[in-house]
Amino acid sequence: MVASRNAPRSSALHERARAVLAGGVNSPVRAMRAIGRDPLFIARGAGAELVDSDGACYIDYVCSWGALIAGHAHPAVLEAVSAAAALGTTFGAPTEAEVALAEAVAERVPGVEMLRMTSSGTEAAMTAIRIARASTSRERIVKFAGAYHGHSDALLAAAGSGLATAGIPASLGVPPAVAASTIVVPWNDRDALAAATAGADLPAAIIAEPYPANMGLVAPQPGFLEFLRERADACGALLILDEVISGFRVARGGASERSGVSGDLVVLGKVLGGGLPAAAVGGSRALMELLAPVGEVYQAGTLSGNPLAVAAGLATLRLLDAAAYARLESATRALAEGIAAAAGGREVCVSWLPGLLTVFFCASPPRDFAAAARCDTAAFGAWCRALLERGVYPPPSQFEAWFPSLAHTDAQIERTIEAARGAFEAIA
Ligand code: PLP
Repeated sequence: MVASRNAPRSSALHERARAVLAGGVNSPVRAMRAIGRDPLFIARGAGAELVDSDGACYIDYVCSWGALIAGHAHPAVLEAVSAAAALGTTFGAPTEAEVALAEAVAERVPGVEMLRMTSSGTEAAMTAIRIARASTSRERIVKFAGAYHGHSDALLAAAGSGLATAGIPASLGVPPAVAASTIVVPWNDRDALAAATAGADLPAAIIAEPYPANMGLVAPQPGFLEFLRERADACGALLILDEVISGFRVARGGASERSGVSGDLVVLGKVLGGGLPAAAVGGSRALMELLAPVGEVYQAGTLSGNPLAVAAGLATLRLLDAAAYARLESATRALAEGIAAAAGGREVCVSWLPGLLTVFFCASPPRDFAAAARCDTAAFGAWCRALLERGVYPPPSQFEAWFPSLAHTDAQIERTIEAARGAFEAIA
């Protein structure tokens, strides 16, 4: 396996891309600016490996940001997608396969009786918020600092530190009035959450990633998920669990199953589409039937429930049996323990759950976004660049999770740990 230091073809493609795509990419983190380098353009993937446009090969831990739990180009997924494509790629009308996928989800995810499918997690989270506002006749939303729920206006708000504050927009173009209805509280902060869910102007919903992975993986403290449920119930708000990352990954039924805490609404994506665009919001019949055409909450999508995405999703869910979850757990454990040991004397903490892992460049595991933000991101960036030189493709930001998949072999995990050791030594 050779990973070229120079990537002349990627550089040329990046140059070409920057003329016609903003920043040369279609989603910001792909630009790799957070680790101080240009993006690699990818030519193909198979199993756990990527090949870039210069022919260099990498063990991939992005796996399309968690969509590919079975790895690249899994034969069962390809076969299902090809078979579906041969029958037509989209109809804008209901199909049997989307019913089968909804049934498969309802059977797995606690509290989900019905779904509405979308093409992206952003749309699904946005729809969950709309349902919550409609069902409670309230406007405010409580979210956690450092949690990501897609890029809709209401959810692009970030907090100052300390106690609950009215959100300020995290992006130009988000009207302050919209962000102001989003209350941002620090993750794992019971007092701030209690304050945000009491008083006169109560929230429509608390939205949370149950195992937040968009500030790096920052686990809930013992009892914190139960406290979310308790506060939502106490103030009459809905609890929206955003399981776009954790769904079908940390357990068959996602975080809801693993933690025993169910949301009123669950947002799903990534694994649900098996590497094609599919996401969904799910919940009880009473809540979901607020949506048009039964109810008066409007939501729609030209490609929602797309036959190819549904076929890929169903094929992927079928691969996820008890043995698959045991493998995901043992592979992630081996990787996490190996990287932690390879760090030598460097202050590094490895947080992990089955199928998820973050290497934090700090002395103790962060408990919230403010702590994660204090990590040594410059050293992290240098380490990631050194990993790429050694044939390992990590998520190029401290505030993301690695996504080990079922395709990662023991030998690839060993090679990754060796590369991690070499990369730590190189930046020492
Ligand atoms: N929610 C979470 C927890 C996510 O991690 C993401 C994307 O990474 C989203 C929502 C948005 O999903 P999408 O990128 O499909 O719009």
